[in-house]
Amino acid sequence: MADELPEYDIDDASPRLLWAEDGSPRSGRFGDVYFSKDDGLAETRAVFLDGCGLPDAWAGRADFTVAELGFGTGLNIVALLDLWRRSRPENGRLHVFSIEGFPLTRDEAARALSAWPELAEIAEALLAVWPEGTPGFHRLDLPQWQTTIDLAVGDAEWALGQWSGPADAWFLDGFSPALNPGMWSPEIMALIAARSAPGARIATFTVAGAVRRGLTEQGFLVEKKPGHGRKRERLEAHLPSPPPQRVSRPHVAVVGAGIAGASVARALIAGGARVTVVEAEHSGAGGSGFPAALVTPRLDAGDALIAGFHAQALERAGDLYRALPDAVIAEGVLQLEQAARDAARFDKIAAQDLWPAAAMTRLDAAACAAHLNVPIATGGLMMRGAMALRPSAVLEPWLAGAERMTARVATLTSQDGHWRLLDAGQGLILEADIVVLTAGWGAAALAPELPLSPVAGQADWVEGPNTVPVAWGGYAVPTESGLLYGATHDRGQAAPTADDQASARNLATLAAALPALVATVEAASSSRRRVAVRATTPDRLPVSGALPAPGLYALTGMGSRGFCVAPLLAEDLAAQILDRPSPLPLATRKRLSPGRFA
Ligand code: SAM
Repeated sequence: MADELPEYDIDDASPRLLWAEDGSPRSGRFGDVYFSKDDGLAETRAVFLDGCGLPDAWAGRADFTVAELGFGTGLNIVALLDLWRRSRPENGRLHVFSIEGFPLTRDEAARALSAWPELAEIAEALLAVWPEGTPGFHRLDLPQWQTTIDLAVGDAEWALGQWSGPADAWFLDGFSPALNPGMWSPEIMALIAARSAPGARIATFTVAGAVRRGLTEQGFLVEKKPGHGRKRERLEAHLPSPPPQRVSRPHVAVVGAGIAGASVARALIAGGARVTVVEAEHSGAGGSGFPAALVTPRLDAGDALIAGFHAQALERAGDLYRALPDAVIAEGVLQLEQAARDAARFDKIAAQDLWPAAAMTRLDAAACAAHLNVPIATGGLMMRGAMALRPSAVLEPWLAGAERMTARVATLTSQDGHWRLLDAGQGLILEADIVVLTAGWGAAALAPELPLSPVAGQADWVEGPNTVPVAWGGYAVPTESGLLYGATHDRGQAAPTADDQASARNLATLAAALPALVATVEAASSSRRRVAVRATTPDRLPVSGALPAPGLYALTGMGSRGFCVAPLLAEDLAAQILDRPSPLPLATRKRLSPGRFA
């Protein structure tokens, strides 16, 4: 099984829909229907919802996970949400994981789902978050029903292999085994078993012998049931083990209140954990405390896994930031060519199938000059999904649901599955079940096994002059009322102070790329500056995951990309801590885990 991103030909991922006279879609690629023409909704309910024992199976559960093979038009999931919204357990959270190799566009799905006016409200909500069909995992939020959907775009075997699970219920809805054996292979059956929670239930429309045998071999008890409508039979299966018991809600200490800590707090609270954030100074006291921050992906023309990770992280961060009032200052960041090889590199990036249509486009020098409204002689890459952000408008709401403590953690000790956080005088700050280190460079002293190094960065800002967001080696971004530019990269400096010399370097960096901005910056009445330390790693990738001591985790080493990568990595950490489905493919989790340095 491929460990990395799927071999996936975006140009040939169309489902090649054909529309029947009654308005129902059919796959030209597979020669089969998405749902039955007679009454697709009733059949969905009978085969999948009843077949998995819903709603009884989720009664009393704080979390319930449904996984589906074959997302198609989304009809099964819309019907599931309809049942969930009417019968969900109090405060229950629903997780959905679904796989689609040949995604429908939003318009195609809207046309297919319009057949059921009674589901219009749910269909509309799903269509509002319908993702671009780019390969990889996409997390969609439906907070009105306490539901998250992770949609994997790619081949079923790849997607199941990359999913963390565990599922309580499975809808097996690939096209018929005769037409599409790849959706029902022994490898798929083994992955389904490996990603199942105890007592997991399976429902499908087919009673094909190979499917029954495949499931039986994996330990499922398989039963034929009377089918819906004209279909004679359908299948139910379940694991004989008892379903999971309700687990107590862990108390998690999060050390550091920058974008990493705020992202982790948000994700854990959304998952039902109790969170205490311990911060030595105040939120945004480190690298997240500038009046503006850039949210930009690392551009990687060679390493498909890392490029895909940044595309997913940017999509997720953008969705979450856009949902916060006043967080986004400006959307779209122009990356200017800096070195001779950038032109070819940007061409490659713009051609990657990872980005939504028109999200990454090449601009020639004239178009760059027009966009920036200054004379400039270089071309660039317009990153429409990237943005300039107001950090405080993200940190405060995401930290709001946590308990807060002001203290500097000096030592961590663990005893009987309990962590004690101590200050420099060995005084007890807090006890917790789990600790997550999110203090950037401050994590280095608490987890000396991590190969972190400090890089000091100063940025300067002025009131008055403005710009659209633009980056090269340096950057210039709009703040609420002016323009921020920088930044210095002083490796090895762990205790810097802001100074004139660094301000002069920042101005020189600006002058080299955008000389036209320098005069306005110099003429501005008030000018301010600030320096903070970033944490980086030997491979310049973030560190996210479990440390060797049980119950200890870290999210750090994000360099200057914290605002792009932290929200998604935090959701993966929360999923690991709470044993819930993660939005991150397992290969990416592994690649970014602290274990890679061992
Ligand atoms: N559950 C869907 C609904 O509610 O509309 C109908 C699913 S349709 C019967 C089967 C789906 O499986 C199609 O959308 C098809 O593109 C997808 N599919 C088929 N083979 C696949 C594969 N090997 N990997 C991923 N998806 C696949």
